[in-house]
Parts: sequence; C-alpha cells; structure tokens
Amino acid sequence: FAGRVAHLGTTVFTEFSALALKHGAMNLGQGFPDFDGPEAVKEAARKAITDGVNQYAPSSGLRDLRVAIAEHGARFHGHTGIDPDTMVTVTSGATEAIFCVLLGLVDPGDEVVAFEPFYDSYDANIGFLGAKSRYVPLRPPDASHSTWWFDRDEVRAAFGPRTRVLILNTPHNPTGKVFTREELEFLGGLCAEFDVKVLSDEVYEHIVFAPARHIRAATVPSLTDRTVTVSSGGKSFSLTGWKIGWIIAPPALRDAVQRAHQFVTFATASPLQAAMAAALRLPDTYFQELGTQYLSKRERLLSGLAEAGLKAYVPEGSYFIMADIRGRGFADDVAFCRHLVTEVGVAAIPPSVFYGPEHKHLGQGMARFAFCKTEAVLDEAVRRLKEGL
Ligand code: PMP
Ligand code: GLN
Repeated sequence: FAGRVAHLGTTVFTEFSALALKHGAMNLGQGFPDFDGPEAVKEAARKAITDGVNQYAPSSGLRDLRVAIAEHGARFHGHTGIDPDTMVTVTSGATEAIFCVLLGLVDPGDEVVAFEPFYDSYDANIGFLGAKSRYVPLRPPDASHSTWWFDRDEVRAAFGPRTRVLILNTPHNPTGKVFTREELEFLGGLCAEFDVKVLSDEVYEHIVFAPARHIRAATVPSLTDRTVTVSSGGKSFSLTGWKIGWIIAPPALRDAVQRAHQFVTFATASPLQAAMAAALRLPDTYFQELGTQYLSKRERLLSGLAEAGLKAYVPEGSYFIMADIRGRGFADDVAFCRHLVTEVGVAAIPPSVFYGPEHKHLGQGMARFAFCKTEAVLDEAVRRLKEGL
C-alpha cells in the first residue's frame, strides 16, 4: 500500500451496511433512501439511453444540465448570475466534486479548516493531498444555544497564513445544523481577512425544516467571489446511485476545479446527466413534497427514539438525527452501534469516525440515525429499539 491509503480502513458506511445485511437489521446507518426517485426522472434517463445519449459528455458536463443547474440555483436560492459556460462543472457525485475542488485549490503543506463532525471523505481527501486539517468542533444545543453552534474564537484560532480552504457543509451531515446567514457572514469575514476560499457542500439543500432556511453560502456577499458550491442530485431526487454532482464557482475557481476534473474522471455518465437536467426542472411542488415527506419521517423517528428512551437532537435539515447514548453502559459509540446492529437489529452510525483525534471523545457519546427510509422500516426499527435497548 502507498502511505496515503495504508492507514485507511473500510468506510464506516460500507462496514455498517454489511453488518445490517448480515444481521437482518433495519438499516438506519448509511444515508440512502430505501425508495426510488421520481418516475419522470427515471423515464428521462431511459429516453436518453434510447435516444443515443451514450457517448462521452463534454468534460464540464452536458450543456443542458449546466443550464439547468444555473436556473435551479436562481429559482431556489437566489443564486443569480451563474454562467453555465464558465462557472459550472458536472462531476461524478459530490464526492468527486469535493476531491477536485481540493485538488484544484490546495497544495501539500497547506491547511484546510473544517467543522467536526465532518463528512468522512473530507479528511481522507485532505490526507491524499498532503495537506493539514484544522478541525473546529460543532457543539450540541445546550441551555444557551437552541441549535448546534460553534465558538467563534475557536474558528478564528484555526485560521493562519497557510489556510487555503474552509469546508462548509449546510445543511450539515450528521448534526442536521443549517448555518444561519449571520454565521455565514461571520465566516465570510474571516475568509476575506485571511484570503481563504470556501468549499460549500450543500447536498442536502432541499431537506430543510422550517423555521430553518437554507442559505446558499455563495449568495452571502463576502463569500460570493471565494466560494465553490458543491451539490448533487442524490439526496434531492432520492437517486444516490446515479452519482451526478456538480460545482458552481466564479470562473477562475471553476477553472482550477475543471483542470483537476478532466484528469480524474474527464466526464460523467451522459444519459444520467440528461435526466438530471429534467430533475432540476421539476415543478416547485416536487421540492415542497420532498420537504413535507421528510418532515413527517423526522417526526416519526424523533418520537420513536424518545419512546425508546433515547434523547435526540432535533435536526434543522438533512435526513439524520443525532442521539445521545451516554449513560447506557457502553464504552463508546462504536460499542453501542455494534451492539445495536448485532443484538437489537438496528443499524446506526458511530459518529466518532467524523472527528479528528483531538475531539473524538465528543462523538463517542452519540449515534447517528438516518430517517430516509420507508415508514414500515422506521416503525420496525423503533419497535426493535423499544424492545431491545
Ligand atoms: N457530502 C455530504 C455531506 C454527504 O452526506 C454526501 C453523501 N453521503 C456527499 C457529500 C456525497 O454525495 P454524492 O453521493 O453525490 O457523491
Ligand atoms: N452520505 C452517506 C451518509 O452519510 C453515505 C455515503 C457513502 O456511503 N459514502 O450516510
């Protein structure tokens, strides 16, 4: 093994999905819907294949999809002025987008600031580049904070002369935090002061619960010129297996990402790109219904967890719930989740893997439950938790 992969085990998602399968557990671990995306979008993919959209797409993506991405940003997030020819690149999922953004912007020895808990590919990608991570923990709601929050002095202390990129994720996996405009403005001020670029991972942009509202980071004035927005169709259209993602950025930043992308995958699946353009053009009602459905699933799992005696933090967005597992007699979150999947028949994710060594203990008292599942699966999971915990 090369040094850059020698220390990497199997991802926690692969590990717990395999355990769920082996033990016949209800899988509230890995975040993928157990239901399919819209019929019209699947039909658009079939039609694209039949119509011969089967050879390489342009490296930056099918033009019609780039146009749809620009229109969608303006329609839902007030993100206007996106030039589909100079500001958009289509990637193989947000996962590829994240890697290409970092490849395009970060040199070995540079520093990248991100919040903990983090999506696991950030940390691995920072390692691939020989860059250094500086993590700032999000803190759970408490007597003086109604949502997950961060200490502004701690963020400031993480910035320095070698900081190149701040990674944001809103709505946030796994805490469900939705960053407020005021928080984004504070972070924008810091990035302007230190001349830092921002990777804003917004894959859960359509899974937000009122009164929280998704603010696209790039629409905050201090962030507009320095932000690369990353998203994908996986969560918004319940099509995580399609792996169609994209970045939106000012032309110079997009150029940096595009240079990397052309030598990582060059281009991504053309018929699925054609169908993703149709998905992004679905009527407003589709997106409203998605939100309503997820709200009802969130409520279902929240009340189920409460009935099972688990204290849960109410997520403002995303399809994850973090629950407090302290005081239940387990050494840590990994021990709890292993017990849960093998003995209780429910898979959840131990969030300590989303922290660096310094703050790992913060994740060891929690478990992440996904509610992107059918009601029957959520209900059966709750039944097992109530009986077996
Ligand atoms: N970022 C976050 C925060 C995610 O939760 C995920 C999906 N699990 C991704 C990126 C990757 O998205 P994709 O499946 O489009 O590669
Ligand atoms: N994003 C999904 C999650 O957080 C999983 C993606 C993956 O398996 N890499 O559960």
